Amino acid sequence: MHDFNYRHDNLYCESVNIEELARKYGTPLYVYSRNTIISHYKKIKEAFCQINPLICFSMKANSNLAICKALVREGCGLDIVSGGELYRAFKIGASPRKIVYAGVGKTEKEIEIAIRHHIFFFNAESIPELELINRVAGRLGIRQKVAIRINPDIKAKTHKYITTGHGENKFGIDFETAKKTFLKKNRYKNLNVSGIHMHIGSQIVDAKPFVRAVERIADFIKDLESREVAIRWLNIGGGLGIIYSRERPQTAKEYAKAVLPVLKKVKANIILEPGRFIVGNAGVLITRIQYVKETPSKNFAIVDAGMNDLIRPSLYGAYHEILPVKSRSYSDSKEIRVFDVVGPICESGDFLGKSRKFIGLREGDLLSVMSAGAYGFSMSSNYNSRPRPSEVMVEGSKARLIRRRETYEDLIRTES
Ligand SMILES: *Cc1c(COP(=O)(O)O)cnc(C)c1O
Repeated sequence: MHDFNYRHDNLYCESVNIEELARKYGTPLYVYSRNTIISHYKKIKEAFCQINPLICFSMKANSNLAICKALVREGCGLDIVSGGELYRAFKIGASPRKIVYAGVGKTEKEIEIAIRHHIFFFNAESIPELELINRVAGRLGIRQKVAIRINPDIKAKTHKYITTGHGENKFGIDFETAKKTFLKKNRYKNLNVSGIHMHIGSQIVDAKPFVRAVERIADFIKDLESREVAIRWLNIGGGLGIIYSRERPQTAKEYAKAVLPVLKKVKANIILEPGRFIVGNAGVLITRIQYVKETPSKNFAIVDAGMNDLIRPSLYGAYHEILPVKSRSYSDSKEIRVFDVVGPICESGDFLGKSRKFIGLREGDLLSVMSAGAYGFSMSSNYNSRPRPSEVMVEGSKARLIRRRETYEDLIRTES
């Protein structure tokens, strides 16, 4: 995270003082480093350069138009999971030939719009979905490329809400059913069923489950080939873990080194769908301490950001490092104390961090919740009728507002 650093005790994003951003744009405030986003994209691209894969940024990690557009300009494609994300993709002029569409509950309307716009691949998650895509494509007179999402029945060591490749998860199709489907693929007259997709989960720090899953799928592809079924595209999903605290995730290079030997055995072109890896460490959530509340059992730093702004701690028990925007040294103030950093929402589950040590924390201080670029703003809500925060993107010494703070009027705009 070399784009977030202290200079003379002040936290900077690239060459911009975060305290000044907070003063100008208010808090809570998401701040992103453009450089981190692009350099992480390039890390994956370079790690896999031998096979030149199509890299599709997983929009649900962070769907801000400016962020997606920055990636699309670099040649990145998009992995979408809804009609809303497709709409965003069109708004930034993304090429439909680089859009892949996953999700277990695609509606007929979503499918129709995606086919009309000639997206590259649907990643179909069930047989009834395959049938619906076939019907809609027939009605539109368009032959649509479809990949079957395989559930490789792999347990990836990650939070149970973000594992997706185990047999008990709702995602994908089992090998047996997938095989029957590929062997009878000519029934789907309007589809070109020529791809396989997998995505086994998120925040996976170790390459082993990826390798095991890809091996299973490579064997499956070989089996299909021996039965005259050719797989042209293999999409191995996203899921690469990042550092939140003490994890030692595989780097893009290590990941590539582990899976490339298996990928080279299959003839298919490769698609990757990284989300968190690209944006996770590229964003922070800046929040101001409203009150310091001391109780007989605990100290609370009550801040102006809550679970509606960043739900990961509440939803997954996720750990985010929390740093003071202006750091104090122990010699300035001899009090190191332990705080729960909590939001203003009326829920006991509303916290950003528990039992964190700070030196001389005071009301009005700014805190930076680190590694909040992925599944931060994109999972935010208006719970407790709280307007959602602004987002700012930093590029070198410049900062640009990429989403203004919501107003109270925004809150009620769609109601009558
Ligand atoms: C969420 C998702 C991704 C991205 O996952 P990350 O862990 O953010 O890399 C990729 N593919 C699919 C199908 C997804 O649902």
